[in-house]
Amino acid sequence: MRKKKFKAESKRLLDMMINSIYTQKEIFLRELISNASDAIDKIYYKALTDDSLTFDQDNYYIKVTADKEARTLTVTDTGIGMTKDELEQHLGTIAKSGSLAFKQENDSKDGHDIIGQFGVGFYAAFMVADKVTVKSKALGSDEAYVWESEGAAGYTIAPCDKETVGTEITLKIKENTENESYDEFLENYRIKAIVKKYSDFIRYPIKMEETVNKPKEGSENEFEEVQEEQTVNSMVPIWRKNKSELTDEDYEAFYAEKHYGFDKPLTHVHISVDGAVRYNSILFIPENMPFDYYTKEFEKGLELYSNGVLIMNKCADLLPDHFSFVKGMVDSEDLSLNISREMLQHDRQLKLIAKNINKKIKAELKSLLKNKREKYESFYESFGRQLKFGVYNDFGANKDVLKDLLLFYSSKEKKLVTLDEYVSRMPEDQKYIYYASGDSYERIEKLPQTEMVADKGYEILYFTEDIDEFAIKMLTSYEEKEFKSVSSADLGIDSDEDEKQTEAEENEYKDLFESMKEILADKVKNVRASKRLKSHPVCFATDGEVTIEMEKVLNAMPDSQQVKAEKVLEINPNHEVFETLKNAHGQDREKLALYTNLLYNQALLIEGLPIHDPVEFTNDICKVMV
Ligand code: ADP
Repeated sequence: MRKKKFKAESKRLLDMMINSIYTQKEIFLRELISNASDAIDKIYYKALTDDSLTFDQDNYYIKVTADKEARTLTVTDTGIGMTKDELEQHLGTIAKSGSLAFKQENDSKDGHDIIGQFGVGFYAAFMVADKVTVKSKALGSDEAYVWESEGAAGYTIAPCDKETVGTEITLKIKENTENESYDEFLENYRIKAIVKKYSDFIRYPIKMEETVNKPKEGSENEFEEVQEEQTVNSMVPIWRKNKSELTDEDYEAFYAEKHYGFDKPLTHVHISVDGAVRYNSILFIPENMPFDYYTKEFEKGLELYSNGVLIMNKCADLLPDHFSFVKGMVDSEDLSLNISREMLQHDRQLKLIAKNINKKIKAELKSLLKNKREKYESFYESFGRQLKFGVYNDFGANKDVLKDLLLFYSSKEKKLVTLDEYVSRMPEDQKYIYYASGDSYERIEKLPQTEMVADKGYEILYFTEDIDEFAIKMLTSYEEKEFKSVSSADLGIDSDEDEKQTEAEENEYKDLFESMKEILADKVKNVRASKRLKSHPVCFATDGEVTIEMEKVLNAMPDSQQVKAEKVLEINPNHEVFETLKNAHGQDREKLALYTNLLYNQALLIEGLPIHDPVEFTNDICKVMV
């Protein structure tokens, strides 16, 4: 028979599996059992809506059989089975190509046992087997097919005999090598331990043959060894168990089994509610960002069970967007099984559950922030942006829920602070919460605009993410303290005396500033004496709501409508160059133009904005040098 080739990506993953250096080879069994359980779920669910099908619990099980002599391990299920096409599609290609790309990137980075924690699925079998045979008969089909592969070379599919609907996967276990023993995967006690460890709460019985000593028939004191089928797993889903019976490891195993993420969860919340609405839920807050988190492909949602039966993989209605990173499941006996997606949206019970979950997540995050700051900051690094989007979205509808979960980097302690921490240590004379925006903390630190505020001893929040200023504009204030950009027209820090002085300066140099404004034409809205500069000669300030950083962000958007910040060129009247400007103003209009353009371009550079004509700019510098 002609061998078919695996799709390129599948082949790569297969190579990784075959040459796997991962320690946790045992997870292959978890993957196979989980697939088997899913396949039975599919029949169960179908039977609920299809009257021609009945689901008799006793007929549905998973069986694991080891044969030491033949060196085979077989996982059999009575699930929905696969047609020829499905064998081809599901086992000939890898569905989640994205996760493969991610794995490769990250494996090379730190050699971490990512595969051991990631949902690699069926292919994991090749970590322990040099040949895998899958016999399957799909529900409603008369034919059965066998898929077989010895690894990267390819696979074959052929018709075969199989009486019952379901799937039988046989692994030809590898021979031991110098460094690796595979024999353990043929030992019943070992297999049993693996099943217990990873698959204890699978809802269907996982059966194994066991040797037991039994009294011989007709005899009282003679015993014989007989093979007996036993159910290895407890079959109670973890969410139905008592919290006090469960350890962190149990939750982590569940997280891995469910493929909620490749990392260990940062924390979990186990909820059992028995009130107006009854439900059990386990929620996880991950530490690391899924590779596709900030992409269109990412789908939020929790698994939704109705009395133990999975009815939806990702129920989006259970999670608000700002908590879209939360993973987990909800099981409620109050939900109808054959509820449609459309009806679900309007389901009162579901709304109640969602509301409740929302509160629990917030409480958990708050508690993390309060009691485990380091963990929270690690979480925030991954998902802080999402919280800030949450503040901004829906016209700020959720800002009050989220404002206390925000962190910003601060000039004072050079670390992340909450708004509450900022406000609670504001000096009495400080009226505003100050912030500065830029590409990086280092660049912001050096911004001329921060000079005066910093000099006053006021703390400044450093905004480096696009969303920061927009979120803050939505908040407008925290504890009645308004936010203020260090570039805004009025910083609100000068005394009456300063006020008078600048007014005097304004008047004195009115002509000079007007000439400069004329030279720059519509490039700036105004030129004026600066109140925020001490040692630097020049900077931009902005009048109005739109700051320069906001202008950058808005204009980078795909369908932007060229928004312009109202830029004001501010000159430091106490700087030496001011003398030069004054002199030029009186005598040489051309010189004044040269200096004005130079200063304007410097201000652009400081903001990280492009210079319109860099060649002219460098020529201008040369003119000054000569
Ligand atoms: P995943 O389970 O994450 O989708 P797998 O590689 O483990 O990825 O499996 C691919 C697909 O093959 C499954 O989604 C399922 O459709 C099918 N499959 C695997 N094992 C079985 C099985 N025992 N019974 C029926 N279908 C199966």
